[in-house]
Amino acid sequence: MTAADLLKKNNLKVTKSRLLILKTVMDFRKPFTVPELLSIENVQGVDPVTIYRNISLFTTSKILKELSLRTGVIHYELDTGHTHHHIVCNTCGYLEPIFTCEAQSISEKVLRESKHFISINKHSFELFGLCMNCYENKK
Ligand SMILES: [Zn+2]
Ligand SMILES: [Zn+2]
Ligand SMILES: [Zn+2]
Repeated sequence: MTAADLLKKNNLKVTKSRLLILKTVMDFRKPFTVPELLSIENVQGVDPVTIYRNISLFTTSKILKELSLRTGVIHYELDTGHTHHHIVCNTCGYLEPIFTCEAQSISEKVLRESKHFISINKHSFELFGLCMNCYENKK
C-alpha cells in the first residue's frame, strides 16, 4: 500500500506534508522516535509542530502504533496488526523483531484467574536483554 492509499483508507486528507512524513516513516522498517524522524533530511522542510501533530493523528487513526521500549521516548512503528514483538538491548538499544507470542495461552490462564474480567482483546509485550555486540565489548 502506498502512503496516499493508507491516508485515504483512514479518511485522512492527502496533503504534501502528510505524504512526506508517512513515506519517510514507511522507509524506516523498524521502530523510530520522533527525534529520529526529525533528523531525516527528507522531512526537514516540514514544521516540527506539523510532524508531531501528524504522528499523533496517525496513531489515533491506527496507521502507527506506540511502543514503550523504556528508552524514555516513545517509539512508533506501522500498525500492520499483530505480527511481532521486540527484544531490545538494555545497553545500546539495538532491537530485533520476535515472532513468538504466547499471549493467547497467557490470556486464557489470566481469565481463569481473574474475578473481574471476561475478555482480553489487546496486549503489549516487549523483552529486554543484552545483545551479542555489547556482550563482546564488555569482555
Ligand atoms: Zn547492545
Ligand atoms: Zn517491529
Ligand atoms: Zn503478541
